[in-house]
Amino acid sequence: MKSFALLTKFLNTFELNHKDQPEFFQSVQEFFSSILPFLYDHSKYQDISLLKRLTEPERIIQFRVCWIDDSGKTQINTGWRVQFNSSIGPFKGGIRFHESVNISVLKFLGFEQTFKNALTNFPIGGGKGGSNFSIKKKSKVEIERFCQSFILNSYKYLGANTDIPAGDIGVGYSEIDLMAGMMRKICGDSSCVFTGKSLFSSGSQLREESTGYGVIYLTELALNYHHNESINKKKVLISGSGNVAIHAIEKCIQMGARVITASDSDGTVVDLEGFNIEKLNRLKFIKKELNGRIQQYSEEFGLIYLKDKSPWSISADIAIPCATQNEINEVDAEIMIKNNIKIVVEGSNMPVTKKAIQLFQNYDILFIPGKIANSGGVIVSVLEKIQNSTYSVWNKNKVEKEMKKVMKNSYRTSIKYGEEKKKVNYVRGANIASFVKVADAVISQGSI
Ligand code: GLU
Repeated sequence: MKSFALLTKFLNTFELNHKDQPEFFQSVQEFFSSILPFLYDHSKYQDISLLKRLTEPERIIQFRVCWIDDSGKTQINTGWRVQFNSSIGPFKGGIRFHESVNISVLKFLGFEQTFKNALTNFPIGGGKGGSNFSIKKKSKVEIERFCQSFILNSYKYLGANTDIPAGDIGVGYSEIDLMAGMMRKICGDSSCVFTGKSLFSSGSQLREESTGYGVIYLTELALNYHHNESINKKKVLISGSGNVAIHAIEKCIQMGARVITASDSDGTVVDLEGFNIEKLNRLKFIKKELNGRIQQYSEEFGLIYLKDKSPWSISADIAIPCATQNEINEVDAEIMIKNNIKIVVEGSNMPVTKKAIQLFQNYDILFIPGKIANSGGVIVSVLEKIQNSTYSVWNKNKVEKEMKKVMKNSYRTSIKYGEEKKKVNYVRGANIASFVKVADAVISQGSI
């Protein structure tokens, strides 16, 4: 009872203090509610000051980002870096450029990242950064000027042993290269501050593919473990058409699965025959080279286009949301349950709402949270860092083998903590495993 009262008190105050930060409150509430039974059994963690230290970022930097557009006008955006928790290693986490970026979104992402990173067992803390800058309809030169200004205004707070950023929505290897280049130029130091660089700039093999490939690897592991089945020949719904979605589709094709949807914020393409490599290459080209939309892709191939709709009403075996936060709510979940979805795997961060997760769990639908499923990206980031700091270059096989080893280990740890009556609650398992890691470090380092 003590832990229940303590947590209720903590969450009520937390909600009051974060009324203007709904995404952050949502992630904190989901996290702590899921580990309540564990807190109940472990008096060591029943300490409100511990919960406060775990939910208050160590530092938040906010800065102005000025850049000159192609017509010569000065444009102004806001940039942030949320350095969430460094108790087990340097802050590590991506940079997101998207119009929806604000402090609530970045605090939720920094909080999630802290525990996702801890689950990998690597000595890395968690952070997140970004700007409310949209790359839509921007020229290559405008993006370059923006990236350079972003670093000019934040380089002081980043460093190879202090805070190591990577990409996220709107930030791929070209943006990372521009930022890493600017960092090197200003500091006159070539150490690895950024991960997610291109191979030209000493990035790692497979870093670009890692998040998407990792999600499918994890889906295969879970299907094997629970149903003794493979993803081969399964019908898959994927949302998004950015880096994670594209590489998840690619891996599905390689493994013989049929991906029948992809999407962006304007709508969904439905292709009942499924993606093949030619179609996927064209989608990559439209997105990357033409900065284009899914509608253009669907028109080129004469496919069904659902304007302003997500993929979740289409019947399939597997759903893998790879777009953004809160893209599956309880209404979507009910339809998916009716359509007999077998497994839901989070490719993006917090794409499924708490109510929707509860529904999936009530109906015994296998649900794998992003902390386990989408950690391939940050894992290969660490492998990139290891290669850079030891002046070595690994081949694809070695990177893939190492990534799979780490993911399998996180998966097993989540089973260990999440097994209940012959079922596995992966949300609970991943959250407890990572909580223990971060909380023990915070406790052992004292009140700092
Ligand atoms: N943005 C990615 C994530 O959400 C990658 C972070 C990184 O590589 O540091 O995990």
